[in-house]
Amino acid sequence: MTSSPEETEALAARLAATLRAGDVVSVAGDLGAGKTTFVRGASRALGVTEPVASPTFTIGHRYEAPTPVAHLDLYRFTGIHAADWGDLEPYFDGTIAFVEWPEHGGAWLPEARAGVTLTHIDATHRRVTIDAHDDPGL
Ligand code: ADP
Ligand code: MG
Repeated sequence: MTSSPEETEALAARLAATLRAGDVVSVAGDLGAGKTTFVRGASRALGVTEPVASPTFTIGHRYEAPTPVAHLDLYRFTGIHAADWGDLEPYFDGTIAFVEWPEHGGAWLPEARAGVTLTHIDATHRRVTIDAHDDPGL
C-alpha cells in the first residue's frame, strides 16, 4: 500500500533498480490508479530527465537514458494485428519497457519480467502488487 504519489514513485524506483535492457514490465490498473505515476518513478530512477506523461496521441514514448526507457499505453488498442508489430518492435529494442493496459495487447506482447497492478483505495492510497518471475523482494 502507498499513501502518496511520491511513495508509489519510490516503490517503482526500487523495482527499476532490478531491471536491465530487454526487460518488459506490465503496469495494470484502472484509469487514475497510478500507472503513469509508477512509470514516472521508475523512469526517473533509470535516468530519464525529460517529462514522463502518458502517451495519449501516440502508442508510446521512448526516452533516452543510460538504458533507454520505453513507455507504451495500449488503452485504445482492442487487439494488435500483425501489421502493427513493426510499429511496436522498436519500443522493445534495447530498452526497459513499461506497458500500460497490457491486457489490451495480445500474444505479441513480449513476456513481462514483472507485472505491476495498482488498485485505487481512496484519494491518496493505492494497493500496489508486483509479481516478478525472479522475485526481487518487493
Ligand atoms: P493512470 O496512468 O493509472 O491513469 P496516473 O498515474 O496518471 O494514473 O494518475 C494517478 C493520479 O492519482 C495522479 O493524479 C496522482 O497524483 C494521484 N495519486 C494519489 N495518490 C496516489 C498514490 N498513492 N499513488 C499514485 N498516484 C496517486
Ligand atoms: Mg496513464
